[in-house]
Amino acid sequence: MEPTIFETHRPAAKIIDESLADTRLSCFWIDDVEGKVETYPALPGDLRVDDAIVGGGFAGLWTAIKLKSENPDRRIVLIEAKRVGWAASGRNGGFCEASISHGEPNAEARWPDEVGILRRLGYENLDAIESFVKEHDLDVDFERNGALAVANEPYQLEWLGESDDPDVETLDAAGVRRRINSPTFLGGDFAPRENANVHPAKLAHELARHAAGLGVEIYEQTPVKQMEGSAEAPIRLTTDRGVVTAERAALCTNAFPSLLKRYRFHTVPVYDYVLMTEPLTDGQLAAIGWEGREGLSDLANQFHYSRLTKDNRILWGGYDAVYHAGGRIRPEYEDRIETHRKLASHFFTTFPQLAGIKFTHRWAGAIDSSTRFCAFFGQAYGGRVQHVAGFTGLGVGATHFAADVIADRFAGRVTERTELQMVREMPLPFPPEPAASIGVNMFRWSFDRADHNRGKRNVFLKAMDAIGFGFDS
Ligand SMILES: Cc1cc2nc3c(=O)[nH]c(=O)nc-3n(C[C@H](O)[C@H](O)[C@H](O)COP(=O)(O)OP(=O)(O)OC[C@H]3O[C@@H](n4cnc5c(N)ncnc54)[C@H](O)[C@@H]3O)c2cc1C
Repeated sequence: MEPTIFETHRPAAKIIDESLADTRLSCFWIDDVEGKVETYPALPGDLRVDDAIVGGGFAGLWTAIKLKSENPDRRIVLIEAKRVGWAASGRNGGFCEASISHGEPNAEARWPDEVGILRRLGYENLDAIESFVKEHDLDVDFERNGALAVANEPYQLEWLGESDDPDVETLDAAGVRRRINSPTFLGGDFAPRENANVHPAKLAHELARHAAGLGVEIYEQTPVKQMEGSAEAPIRLTTDRGVVTAERAALCTNAFPSLLKRYRFHTVPVYDYVLMTEPLTDGQLAAIGWEGREGLSDLANQFHYSRLTKDNRILWGGYDAVYHAGGRIRPEYEDRIETHRKLASHFFTTFPQLAGIKFTHRWAGAIDSSTRFCAFFGQAYGGRVQHVAGFTGLGVGATHFAADVIADRFAGRVTERTELQMVREMPLPFPPEPAASIGVNMFRWSFDRADHNRGKRNVFLKAMDAIGFGFDS
């Protein structure tokens, strides 16, 4: 086994200790909007509506906007268990990527005939988000600066230049370092239209504001406990505050237990961890370059993602993808100091010139991992209920595409989107416990081995690839 660059070039423990000495366990993005954004009332009692959307993340919010824009006369409600954007949508890396398939290699492996169309639809999707943000003047710090994927180990250089996307430019070490100056970067692929950085909590609240402006009724602090329905009768959503009876319902509940039992095993919550630095000084910025403000990631199985914020902090996340036996979502899982220390160590390996900088925030969130890494589209009760989940770690942009699919299906439209294999096919479910834990740990162990063995996939990973069963973040 060969050590990684993060093991051979560890920073001094003192640098890590000092960087984390005053760090708040709290999501920077959500702190940043606290007190400056609307809150919405809880459900006032029983309601009879046309459409109900469950979940106030990006998927639910975009669905609400699409349905109300298309049907202004329908009564549409969005019901959120806690607050708009409190879960994955408000606490992610803020990479709004064009890919709707969790990257092109995933599309190539699963739907080789659809790679080109998925790429085109992905770009159209991100273009549509960009136009919407501009047209409605949303204050979401949207910056379409592209994606830079870098090799940190010599063996990863072979993986560069593999995309058929004519937009992608392959860079050598000097070319990458001219963009972002790190001694670990050996080469990279730059995709100029692939990514926009956004402030995710602002995006969630701006979408909610827009939806409310269209006439969508938003209710917060209202968990839906149960759903009943049939193809012939309206859907009943039961909460502690009343029952919502709806002609149609869209379930956009991501990593949380699905209200349709049949989809409970199609996702598992996987915790992803993030650090945020204090704003960089002009001197610190000059030391790293990064004038293009690209979304940065690296290429190992256990990968990092990083970007600048509007006020020039650096967000640094990823690497450990932690599944807790039983698959629950619990606030205490967010406090994993060993993972945050590991992230800090890898940060200073990447940017030794920033030694002395402090992290102001550390946090985590649950990703809805599916075995094919991208969203699946379920339905029930003759299409009265639409269900989407499984975005894994790439849902900021893909949730907008998912909302279009839901709107198409409710309208009974057959479109290029609804006909995609990716949309029509369902992924393999995860097995129940204890097999789920054993399987996920086997994946994590195998990824770590591969990252210490020139990226070579072991027999377990090859066998899982062959049956289309995967684990990722
Ligand atoms: C740390 C982290 C970093 C990430 N980084 C990126 C990134 O940089 N780029 C990217 O593309 N993706 C990223 N992702 C993934 C991305 O954030 C998600 O795919 C996306 O936000 C999913 O949106 P959603 O609306 O489906 O889910 P959520 O935002 O999780 O929303 C679901 C909502 O449903 C509500 N809900 C659930 N059950 C019920 C119920 N029974 N009743 C009422 N309400 C209910 C929840 O309270 C929640 O608010 C990241 C995720 C995490 C956690």
